[in-house]
Amino acid sequence: MADRYLSFTGTAPGRFLTRRLGLPQPAPLRRWSPEHPELDGGTLLLTAGKSELDLSYLEAGASDRPAAVVLDATGVRDVEGLAEVHAALHPVVRSVAAGGRVVVLGAPVDEASRGAGSSSGAGASSGAGAAREAEAAREAEAARGAGSSSGAGASLGAGASRGAEASRGAGSTSGAGASLGAGSSLGAGDHHRAAAQQALEGFTRSLGKEIGRGRTVNLVRLTDGPAAESTLRFLLSPRSAYVSGQVIGVGAGPVTAPADPARPLAGRTALVTGGARGIGAAVAETLARDGARVVVLDVPQAEADARRVADRLGGTALALDITAADAGARIADALPGGLDVLIHNAGITRDRRLVNMPADRWSSVLDVNLASVLRTTDALLAAGTLRAGGRIVATASIAGIAGNAGQTNYGASKAGIIGLVRALAPRALAEHGVTVNAVAPGFIETTMTAAIPLFIREAGRRMNSLAQGGLPVDVAETTAWLAHPASGAVNGQVVRVCGQSLLGA
Ligand code: NAD
Repeated sequence: MADRYLSFTGTAPGRFLTRRLGLPQPAPLRRWSPEHPELDGGTLLLTAGKSELDLSYLEAGASDRPAAVVLDATGVRDVEGLAEVHAALHPVVRSVAAGGRVVVLGAPVDEASRGAGSSSGAGASSGAGAAREAEAAREAEAARGAGSSSGAGASLGAGASRGAEASRGAGSTSGAGASLGAGSSLGAGDHHRAAAQQALEGFTRSLGKEIGRGRTVNLVRLTDGPAAESTLRFLLSPRSAYVSGQVIGVGAGPVTAPADPARPLAGRTALVTGGARGIGAAVAETLARDGARVVVLDVPQAEADARRVADRLGGTALALDITAADAGARIADALPGGLDVLIHNAGITRDRRLVNMPADRWSSVLDVNLASVLRTTDALLAAGTLRAGGRIVATASIAGIAGNAGQTNYGASKAGIIGLVRALAPRALAEHGVTVNAVAPGFIETTMTAAIPLFIREAGRRMNSLAQGGLPVDVAETTAWLAHPASGAVNGQVVRVCGQSLLGA
């Protein structure tokens, strides 16, 4: 469904009229293409507070008009330290190129509140990445015989050397508490540091709402620079065009660099449920681009479409209703060689307000969107079909975060996905070496959203910081980052692909 308003505002009269009327001004987004794989311009690396992160892989340097700015604020320990965040970004934010990126780096808040230094290696807010889990996963990844740490992804194409250090001597040494002296040695919570680190969320989300011109702002909470390489490369690339206002936690490891950065999923098998059309077809295509052998699963009625997608990508189609009680066993039978990437994308809506909703509309949505995800995940983990080093990416929705009138069934099912991901992630990593994350799309231009009545559809499209709907490829690129072999330290995360929708947090 073409966004005619977006095309109109790209013309001179359209720009004039919409500006005069105070209407939204969506900027065309710069998405990935083989001819244009990187942002145009350098990356500027700034620091607020004293940081110990190793970010040498960013190859950042001074630039008058940076395509990206990374602010390392992991060392901010108190309100005074927050002044350095302002001092660092205030002078440069205007110069960030259209379609550019701002990424703020923060410490995990739970760790900050314990007053611990940056070296503990504990996971982010998801609770993932505890030493035992990371160790289990490291062993599991090692068993795959894959490469070693860092160096993932393509070059950022940026300049040299660390940019202007914003630190004004306020940062105290790592691990020591700030004004209260409540460091880890005292075992007391450092609420000053926690407050300062939590403040970065409000800062990031607010800047995302005001920065405009197709630029995005995200916050990554991390303890280990190299473990976050795949995440930073994603956020600093055209692939993350519709991801803004997000807070992403990255644990301490494991990180497996692919042999060929251009085809990170080479030698891996990926199954995409609901892959015959829409977002699922885009996910299959993107994972195939990244080298995966794809299996496109969809209901028997959509077999011809699933086959067309699979044939185009050199993969195979699997005609199967995912709600079948034996769906997990049939997938396992169809994949005797095992599975590396499981994408739970199939989903349906059956909208009605609760007062008008018959039980069958409730149960069909809960069954496709949630129960079948739980059943097949359990079956494929138990059977060992999903190999160590594997990835599960489930599909939530902003309706599962903010709720939506007429979607009590859908909102419940998608919120359930978030619960599943958060609870299973640490266990799946510890016991199977498999990460579990979710994407939560906002308004994405597909057959599903084309069916929404015109005015509600138009509101859905504009009510986000980028003032436009996303494309299936935006969800697909986010999925591909989570599926990347170097994303083993990203676990238990729910990443919204919503252009920073006004709905929900
Ligand atoms: P779509 O309707 O275009 O495609 C869904 C696919 O899933 C179809 O090919 C369908 O045949 C398949 N499917 C449905 N039931 C199935 C079953 N029982 N077994 C196997 N396959 C089944 O939808 P879409 O817009 O591409 O959405 C994909 C996913 O993204 C869904 O989970 C949806 O809830 C979620 N999502 C979409 C949006 C959006 O704006 N489009 C927003 C938030 C979340």
